Amino acid sequence: MNTIEEIFARAVFSREDLLFLLDSKGPDRLRLFEKAKETKTEQVGRKVYFRGLIEYSNFCNKNCFYCGIRAGNSRYARYQMTDAEVLEAVDYAWKNEYASIVIQSGERTNKAFVSKIESLLKNIHARTEGQIHVTLSLGEQTRETYQRWFDAGAHRYLLRIEVSNPSLYMKLHPNNKTHDYYRRLEALKTLKSIGFQVGTGVMIGLPFQTVADLADDLVFFREFDIDMAGMGPYIEHVDTPLYQYSSSLLPLKERFDLSLKMVAILRIMMKDINIAATTAMQTIDPQGREKALLVGANVIMPNLTPVKYRQDYLLYENKPCLDEEAEECKSCLEARIHMAGDTIGYGEWGDSKHFAGRDRQAGFTPKKNAP
Ligand code: SAH
Ligand code: SF4
Repeated sequence: MNTIEEIFARAVFSREDLLFLLDSKGPDRLRLFEKAKETKTEQVGRKVYFRGLIEYSNFCNKNCFYCGIRAGNSRYARYQMTDAEVLEAVDYAWKNEYASIVIQSGERTNKAFVSKIESLLKNIHARTEGQIHVTLSLGEQTRETYQRWFDAGAHRYLLRIEVSNPSLYMKLHPNNKTHDYYRRLEALKTLKSIGFQVGTGVMIGLPFQTVADLADDLVFFREFDIDMAGMGPYIEHVDTPLYQYSSSLLPLKERFDLSLKMVAILRIMMKDINIAATTAMQTIDPQGREKALLVGANVIMPNLTPVKYRQDYLLYENKPCLDEEAEECKSCLEARIHMAGDTIGYGEWGDSKHFAGRDRQAGFTPKKNAP
């Protein structure tokens, strides 16, 4: 039997090591969290980077079984922010030195949507003199679309694989071409080949998911050599097909604890990537995001979506901060981050060190979209 220190001493964790760490309890669990905090301090520092989150639209063509804004749910009024609203949120981010925003929405692939995002990107780039870096989280698109958005100024892309086990993926999505595991994987590869900093992630505590699946997810992140990760607990939504399995789920507290362990292990495994402290963590525990910062996360996404739309962007239930304006959200987060002993990297892009390192090794200069 290995001790936790023997595991930490290994250059590469085996699947058994990952299972040991995911199952750790008592002093081993605390040691895991401590080691993750040490690794964060040494490798990426105690700085947290803000990404202002713009939940651009809840129109979605897909029907993922877990998601509240799936096409099949008629409860929400569907919206798309106006250009003026987007630019107002961008101005807020710029003035407050966030240096970076995320545009997220349901998945749409039609020409009008693709062109709209492209023109918004160009507008944002021109308006902020290239000082605001843009991350997109707009689902699976063709190579041509990704390339157009990259050329228009997007630097990073978040596309969660959701679960890395193809047969589990099939249980969580309709079985058709638009919800195909291999198509999603291909989209991730395309993003990487274009030159995006690529972030992916998984939900934790899903129906039918095992701890071994989570260990495999961690191996997937390592093998794909990701630049950024966003992971969080699965939280059920009453209007979704998966809700019928609610009684078989791990209690929320355990899903939260497993999520913390996933963040901590990933920080130790992939020392210089960016890891988000996600909103879903705060949904379960009011101090969820600070706790994630303490075990390795270094990115937070303050919500810049106009308050009038937030009730309609409920991917899951009990989402926090639905009535908090950007300003309240900012001061609340500042206090929380300082409580966790970190500082905020205002005015810094906070690009993934891992991405920069990989490019240096590969010996080419990535196309710069901003000065
Ligand atoms: N449509 C895009 C981006 C918006 S959805 C996409 O799917 O990639 C963003 C993320 O919300 C998804 O990747 C998923 O991991 C998460 N999500 C959806 N439903 C959720 C739920 N019930 N609990 C926790 N996270 C959820
Ligand atoms: Fe649409 Fe994304 Fe929700 Fe799937 S997870 S239904 S693609 S918004």
